[in-house]
Amino acid sequence: MILMKKIAILGSTGSIGTQALEVTEQNPEYFKAEILTAGSNAELLIKQALRFNPNTVVIADKSKYKEVSDALAPYPIKVFAGSKAIEEIVTSSEIDTVLTAMVGFSGLIPTINAIKAKKDIALANKETLVVAGELISKLIKQNKVAVLPVDSEHSAIFQSITGEFNNEIEKIYLTASGGPFRTLSKEQLKKVTKAQALKHPNWNMGAKITVDSATMMNKGLEAIEAKWLFDLKPEQIDIIVHPQSIIHSLVQFTDGSIKAQMGLPDMKLPIQYAFTYPARLKTNFKRFNFADYPELTFEKPDTDKFPNIKTAYEAMKKGGNMPCAVNAANEKAVEAFLNDKISFFEIPEIIEKTVNKINFAADSNLNTYLETDKEARIIAEEIIKNKN
Ligand code: NDP
Ligand code: MG
Repeated sequence: MILMKKIAILGSTGSIGTQALEVTEQNPEYFKAEILTAGSNAELLIKQALRFNPNTVVIADKSKYKEVSDALAPYPIKVFAGSKAIEEIVTSSEIDTVLTAMVGFSGLIPTINAIKAKKDIALANKETLVVAGELISKLIKQNKVAVLPVDSEHSAIFQSITGEFNNEIEKIYLTASGGPFRTLSKEQLKKVTKAQALKHPNWNMGAKITVDSATMMNKGLEAIEAKWLFDLKPEQIDIIVHPQSIIHSLVQFTDGSIKAQMGLPDMKLPIQYAFTYPARLKTNFKRFNFADYPELTFEKPDTDKFPNIKTAYEAMKKGGNMPCAVNAANEKAVEAFLNDKISFFEIPEIIEKTVNKINFAADSNLNTYLETDKEARIIAEEIIKNKN
């Protein structure tokens, strides 16, 4: 049985957010999006509010408040603006589940507040677990909330361990498409353009995660995300490149058996499963056809060409504030790349140099994370400035 879910979609105007709204629209008897939040896309937020009639909408960009509130004035929809309002709205009694589909570090505080308010979390915003996995894990246990992964790899692992009860995981394999530059040489990587980096072979996603996929930092972040979601050691997490993106990830148990979850790449499935777990809900999504994929192939990731994987694993092994530093440096470097300030090839170098300058802190206090994030951003910015 599926109970009616009242959902807050943080980042409703993004790639995950819009697909989540499609899922809710197809099953109005099971899901109601009661809160929608956006960064600055007032136009789309207004359209969504008019179509889905939520209880509340919040726009982070305060300069867009008037536009949104004027447009929604004739309707009984509450309108707020500012990051603080997003951080607070997640505690609303109008919702029981929060889908964290905003991008980057901005997801951290809303997720913490939602957990403390005992809301279940459908987690798309992997950066939150990268930055503060230890703290978030403690809060999840203390508040006894469910965290359902939306990231396709983590959903695949979650689906594969469902029904396994206390059976131990020996290791997991996170599959990676390898991104648009998988087959290029190191020399060729020096010349790739922004337009090329923004063209993912299998998934249509927001700009930041698309660049992360091209640099393979996405897989590094996902390894850290998996560590916290499934309580694994870094040695238990392997990455395998699978360019067709049909097998979404695999779990190997202690008897050697491997379970995989497969299907056509479509984020609506993991989004919906995060809302309906442990039940499954019938969909009309396109089905996989074996004859269309006579070859499913696998290869080792090239960490020499994509050093971000190494940087992320080293940070995961060190723990403490190191993954937080990697995340901040990555966000800064990707932003600089998207603003044409640095080349694609310089992204990993900026991240590594930044992380090397951060002092290690082992504790898992929110303040440590906030300070590390701030410091890493300043250092990364300085390194980027000195390049130009
Ligand atoms: P998008 O860039 O498409 O969307 C991001 C959303 O967050 C938008 O609604 C945006 O608003 C909002 N937003 C951005 N910055 C802020 C801010 N500072 N404060 C409040 N809201 C903000 O990203 P994706 O949907 O691709 O990704 C969202 C998250 O899900 C990321 O953490 C990503 O790693 C993860 N994820 C995404 C997948 C995908 O297929 N897209 C797959 C797996 C994980 P606005 O539109 O107004 O800018
Ligand atoms: Mg993923």
